[in-house]
Amino acid sequence: MTTTKKVPAYAAQSATSGLASFNIMRREPGPQDVEIEILFCGICHSDLHSVRNEWSEFMATNYPIVPGHEIVGRVTKVGSAVTKFKQGDLAAVGCMVDSDGTCPQCKAGLEQFCPNMILTFNSPDKHLGGFTYGGYSGSIVVDQRFVLRVPSNLNLAGAAPLLCAGITTYSPMHHWGVTKGKKVGVVGLGGLGHMAVKFAHALGAHVVVFTTSPGKKEDALRLGADEVVVSRNADEMKKHAGSFDFILDAVSADHDINAYINLLGIDGNLTLVGAPAKPLCVSAFSLIARRRSFSGSMIGGIAETQEMLDFCGKHNITADVEVIPIQKVNEAYQRLLKSDVKYRFSIDMASLKSE
Ligand code: NAP
Ligand code: ZN
Repeated sequence: MTTTKKVPAYAAQSATSGLASFNIMRREPGPQDVEIEILFCGICHSDLHSVRNEWSEFMATNYPIVPGHEIVGRVTKVGSAVTKFKQGDLAAVGCMVDSDGTCPQCKAGLEQFCPNMILTFNSPDKHLGGFTYGGYSGSIVVDQRFVLRVPSNLNLAGAAPLLCAGITTYSPMHHWGVTKGKKVGVVGLGGLGHMAVKFAHALGAHVVVFTTSPGKKEDALRLGADEVVVSRNADEMKKHAGSFDFILDAVSADHDINAYINLLGIDGNLTLVGAPAKPLCVSAFSLIARRRSFSGSMIGGIAETQEMLDFCGKHNITADVEVIPIQKVNEAYQRLLKSDVKYRFSIDMASLKSE
């Protein structure tokens, strides 16, 4: 039998309950496991979609749910076979904690597409039964294959969001060849969007931000945008028609995707990373007219996540965060729904000790 210990966490008991203090069990590290004391955990909009069961059709939520997949912390214990980490090291965990390691996707470093991939929360827990619990908790135990190294120069509160917002925007830019000289659009200046701006700028692209929030204009420029378009202004949108090589759409709610597809040039690509629950309507003529493509992307593989973290270490890139105690998490969710976050909430998990 696996030995366990009690760990404090925050959980939602139903789609409408909000999050509150809750104790969970974590396994004692097995030979391949790393135990991490969680220092910071970012708040991703996916946490909110899951807590409220907004993705019930595709990925129903099992309650209680402990969300959180942007985890940085310190290693407190390692199993006998662990070679990558030792006690006291900084470590990070993203959206996945396991995969089969044998399928073609795993062999290609695309663990996120493994049919047996285990998400950090709300996936079957093969060790303890029930479902996995995420980073809104005091500690986590993860197979060393899914634990990442954090460059020592990075601010930890700002590094946590790299584990989801970072890799989710870095990976498609890599895949679609964003480089110097390309015109790149970023739709939605939230947690993912602001990381996309930083990466596209660091890669040398000409970056245009599309926002529904006129108040974010100054910030967008400071973050690395060359131009900012308020997307509700049709004239401003028209000026960019047919001109983009690549657009990353990171919007969390229902919106008109054709308005952005029409901004692509010949062979331009729009990649969707935002995951609104409602299906999007795509016009055939938007796509066929210029051999445009419309695709999606989900997080990134483990090796690519490490590459992204190392890139951030080299370029000193972290998320712009508002650090909050765990007790403010429900308020933070309300603000996320109003696009009122600059630009990621990062929970200081030390606040859990005062529960
Ligand atoms: P977020 O911080 O809440 O940012 C979303 C942004 O979308 C907002 O800041 C806002 O930007 C814009 N927006 C919100 N409502 C809108 C509306 N009705 N119309 C137009 N624009 C709107 O969320 P996030 O954490 O970055 O996540 C964004 C989406 O990506 C979520 O759906 C999330 O689940 C998904 N996600 C996907 C992956 C993946 O692997 N594909 C990974 C992580 C997250 P402006 O104020 O600038 O308009
Ligand atoms: Zn996320």
